[in-house]
Amino acid sequence: MCLFCDIIEHRQKSYIVYQDSYVTAFLDKFPIKPGHTLVVPNVHSENFLMMDSKTSCQLCNTLKTIAIAVKGALKADGIRLVSNIGESAGQVIFHTHFHIMPAWSQEPDFPSFVPRKEQTEEYYRSMQSVIMDAVKSVLSNSQIHGEVNEST
Ligand code: ZN
Repeated sequence: MCLFCDIIEHRQKSYIVYQDSYVTAFLDKFPIKPGHTLVVPNVHSENFLMMDSKTSCQLCNTLKTIAIAVKGALKADGIRLVSNIGESAGQVIFHTHFHIMPAWSQEPDFPSFVPRKEQTEEYYRSMQSVIMDAVKSVLSNSQIHGEVNEST
């Protein structure tokens, strides 16, 4: 059994901010920073290096969209995109995933959740709502500019 497959199939509770036929994005249950989001392919693969090219292209396009949305929603100055590949690199869930972690130049250490812990229901609900809205806005802007994601 794979935790992320269960989230994708809605068998496991999570706060999904975006889902299409290829990719699902949801809030990290144990965020490092506010807005910490995970982007995963719907079809199980152990890590990014083992993905087929078509799915990895879809994943990258959506990763960019979600990263722009998270950056905007959290008014972040920067974003860290991280994929840990292999146990030695810190991979814990063996289903391909990218972390999107906002960063702020004025507050390098705050707000930050260390140690990582489960947040309040309020945190997940409000974060899900602002990020979902931001994703919709990024997608509608990209359609205006003719950059329609082929997965949609
Ligand atoms: Zn899986």
